[in-house]
Amino acid sequence: MAQVQQQKPAPSGAETRHVLPELPYDVAALEPHIDAQTMQIHHGKHHQAYITNLNNALNKHPELFGKSVDELLRGITVIPDDIRAAVRNHGGGHHNHSLFWTVMAPAGKGGGGEPRGVLAAAITRAFGDFAKFKEVLGNAATSQFGSGWAWLTVANGKLEVAARPNQDSPLMDNKTPILGLDVWEHAYYLKYQNRRPDYVAAWWNVVNWEEVARRYAAAL
Ligand code: MN
Repeated sequence: MAQVQQQKPAPSGAETRHVLPELPYDVAALEPHIDAQTMQIHHGKHHQAYITNLNNALNKHPELFGKSVDELLRGITVIPDDIRAAVRNHGGGHHNHSLFWTVMAPAGKGGGGEPRGVLAAAITRAFGDFAKFKEVLGNAATSQFGSGWAWLTVANGKLEVAARPNQDSPLMDNKTPILGLDVWEHAYYLKYQNRRPDYVAAWWNVVNWEEVARRYAAAL
């Protein structure tokens, strides 16, 4: 077989390579807020490409297949020089998108509405109220210049909102992301073209607050 095309495999076998997680819902499940074609390309092509490129980088240091993406990003400063940028970009892309799919759910079926319980209380404490929080995160998302993400993170038990460029993960600053909004054009351009604020406004209808609350509890 086409052995020349094979990269050097990880020593402990194929199961250590990073693989694309399945979407927790159908590609059309987030319609009309996020269209099926965008979901299909975003998950099947963009997310897969980050994983392929991450695996290709790690092939140069196969011992790193033993680490989770979370560990790779938290320890980004000690990743070998020759693959640090690739791990930052493609490992970041893999981690960010893996989170993104789970913090969304079909509108009215787990998606939308408002957070409850301890997460709701923490948001009120940090931002004043839920409406103010939506404004802060929405502003971070719409004002991010070029490609990037808006994040809700937990650091030292406190909630923070920040935008980051490219696929930079808050994990690189030892902050735990619990909600992320992808504002790369590939996330919205087919349906919303240049209207990023419309995409951001629609996205609130599919936020899975139960999953965000679970991640908040886990991060504390
Ligand atoms: Mn994306």
